[in-house]
Amino acid sequence: MFAKARTGAIQASVRNAQAAAFSKQASRNMKILAILYKGGEAAKQEPRLLGTVENELGIRSWLESQGHEYLVSDDKEGPNSFLHKNIHDADVVITTPFHPGYLNKELLDKAKNLKLCVTAGVGSDHVDLNIAAEKGLEVIEVTGSNVVSVAEHAVMSILLLVRNFVPAHEMIKRGDWLVSDVARNAFDLEGKVVGTLGAGRIGFRILQRLQPFNCKEFLYYDYNALDPTREKEVNARRVEDLKQFVSQCDVVTVNAPLHEGTMGLINKDLLKHFKKGAWLVNTARGAICNAEDVAAAVNSGQLNGYAGDVWNVQPAPKEHPWRYMQNPLGGGNGMVPHYSGTTLDAQLRYANGTKQILENFFQGKPQLPANVIIGNKGYATTSYGQR
Ligand code: NAD
Repeated sequence: MFAKARTGAIQASVRNAQAAAFSKQASRNMKILAILYKGGEAAKQEPRLLGTVENELGIRSWLESQGHEYLVSDDKEGPNSFLHKNIHDADVVITTPFHPGYLNKELLDKAKNLKLCVTAGVGSDHVDLNIAAEKGLEVIEVTGSNVVSVAEHAVMSILLLVRNFVPAHEMIKRGDWLVSDVARNAFDLEGKVVGTLGAGRIGFRILQRLQPFNCKEFLYYDYNALDPTREKEVNARRVEDLKQFVSQCDVVTVNAPLHEGTMGLINKDLLKHFKKGAWLVNTARGAICNAEDVAAAVNSGQLNGYAGDVWNVQPAPKEHPWRYMQNPLGGGNGMVPHYSGTTLDAQLRYANGTKQILENFFQGKPQLPANVIIGNKGYATTSYGQR
């Protein structure tokens, strides 16, 4: 009884201390950095491009009205960059995965005041999450904000590869008309086996959207099994061995976060186990695939095509092999810049979500549990590897 009362008193005093710390935090002016991508003329003409340096997630006047300092730039690489020069006394860093400010150990060591890293979007691998957890930093993202946008893009990419769309369109723009040149590598999605590596929010939505295509089978590979009702909803069968999974798929779509367990996972050793002429779509993270190995597989025809919007360094250098790879019939490349999750609809959702995360932080309110990647007890998500 006495011990219970004592524990209660300790808990109350911890709560009071936390409340005092939060009210101190709220009353202090914060330095908030945002690393966003340059929008140029497009951003001046289109204010709904909220994720740009020009439009600043639409939160400048709101932040400044509360006395906070808000510094925004796209300059993030090297010791003389804006990010490196400003990190030492920043309280909050916001960055978008479309133009990620890489918060590695070196930078996090310099960031003596940092408390919160916000991802304006989904996917927080640009932060060294293990170091953030060690340092007691919070990493919060706008979970779910663009999962429909990405799922739609992945479905489109699957179709454009299977139907050999890109070379057909390029032919039209060239002024040519040679039906058999493109039809010889065009197929139906009906009757094919489609598998998702990662069956979380995006992977699941891709399978949902593919239901009417009469595919032969839907497979998934994920250490987190779907519950039976959800498995049934998308008619999916789980395959627990990765090699067996890829060897059964005509189409593989990658939808897992980038972490120690997925970095370079799709490499020449695994590509040997893919069906000859399979299609691979990756809208998750570029570094999950080995760039040279994937390009070699497309160039040789081991893969009939590869499509996606994510690259192992962003912006992708001009000489990146994924810009130029093509299958032996001159198609099979569906690469675009990282934009699937940054439709105008998605930008509004992740800008609003970022504002909500900051508001919770200023007021000492709990964050939405689904948004918390690293919380005050370390990893709060089961999506970044089994630990
Ligand atoms: P989610 O957390 O809902 O689902 C991820 C799933 O991947 C989880 O079920 C997890 O168990 C699984 N997983 C993790 N490691 C795995 C592994 N080694 N093998 C198999 N499965 C594994 O995340 P989500 O919302 O579906 O997003 C997935 C990823 O997509 C994000 O982390 C991000 O990197 C990427 N993404 C890209 C864009 C874009 O614009 N291209 C936008 C949003 C998200």
